[in-house]
Amino acid sequence: MSSTISQRHEWNAVARTLEPFPVFSDHEHHHPDAFFREPMTLDRLFANSYVAWTRYVPDGTRKSREALIEHVRFNSYYTWMEQGIQRIHGFTDPIHIDNWEALSATIGRAYADDPDFHWKTLHQFGYERLLLDAFWNPGDDNGHPEIFTPVFRIDKFMYGVHAEAIAPNEFCTWSRYGFNGGTLADYVDLMRAFIRKRHQAGQVAALKCADAYFRSISFQPDDPEAARAAFGRHPSELTPEQRMAFGNYIFNRACELAAELDIPFQVHTGLALLSGSEPMKFEPTIARHPKTRFVLFHSGYPWIHQVAGLAHNYPNALPSLTWTATISTSAAVRALHEFIDVAPSIRTITWGSDCFHAEESIGALLAWKWIVTTVLSERLCDGRLHARDLEPLARNLLHANGRSLYLHQG
Ligand SMILES: [Zn+2]
Repeated sequence: MSSTISQRHEWNAVARTLEPFPVFSDHEHHHPDAFFREPMTLDRLFANSYVAWTRYVPDGTRKSREALIEHVRFNSYYTWMEQGIQRIHGFTDPIHIDNWEALSATIGRAYADDPDFHWKTLHQFGYERLLLDAFWNPGDDNGHPEIFTPVFRIDKFMYGVHAEAIAPNEFCTWSRYGFNGGTLADYVDLMRAFIRKRHQAGQVAALKCADAYFRSISFQPDDPEAARAAFGRHPSELTPEQRMAFGNYIFNRACELAAELDIPFQVHTGLALLSGSEPMKFEPTIARHPKTRFVLFHSGYPWIHQVAGLAHNYPNALPSLTWTATISTSAAVRALHEFIDVAPSIRTITWGSDCFHAEESIGALLAWKWIVTTVLSERLCDGRLHARDLEPLARNLLHANGRSLYLHQG
């Protein structure tokens, strides 16, 4: 047998071994039920996926669909979402302009016939549990505790300087959480009390911050005087420096709270604002809070080596390939190899799909299994992995690490 044929043979054997393994996701944004009660079409699925980030968004017209297929069909987001759609709705042909309408009708019927289709499908095609970041209503499980466990996104608290301070993506923490005014210390107490109470009820598996979309992840040490000076001022009167000082102050309190509750703190690194999200900008925070376990999301893509370096040096820096599998499948293969090489504990590496609906999440799950299969079969072939370690390592990557880090199971 040539080496290429034997590698292919090994890949297939590993893929068959991994096929029945359930998958744990450390991060999702699945829409609430109401979204799925609106008629579903193939156009709507694409419009609510990362595929739309390419700016080729099908809108029901032939022209927009042809443009999507022409320009985007080799992009990682598209190829895996297409596979998710194929797997769920039972067809093998690629999506093309002539089967679009028929396929869209099949999808519409599946959603119309079963109001629970959107979440039951996740179970049916391989997910055992998904952590939900419902940023529109932090800490929510969409009413489906059977499949979703909430994390609590703290971003909005970082904007609550005033009763009229609306955080990006919608609401003011004062009115949402019933804060009627007081000191900065009162505000922090309210945040802590709210999250502690939800944690006691088993509703907070982790804290989360995705403010990298709006600011640098270079969170600075406390400047309590500046934070107190900012607090209570109308947003129109705040300088950028005061906003930053307030955000830093709240972020640091969240770091302490994660350590107190012994839950991981998931942090968006990479992409978002490209100029502010390099993982190395987060190093001083990791060093300043050694008792807080920071999960570095998205492998810091495109700076995957920086996350590997941080994981190598800091036991409280945990590398997560969330979203990476579908941003760039090739980069995710390189990242997983590197994280296995350098992580002080293999039990720290996790993954999630980071999606809004089942078709894209199932495609991402197929991507993640493809990546784990590729990396482990390469290691079997080149002698870095013993055959007896294949299954335990695959289980850790696919579900056991997530279960133990977030649910204290296994
Ligand atoms: Zn996300």
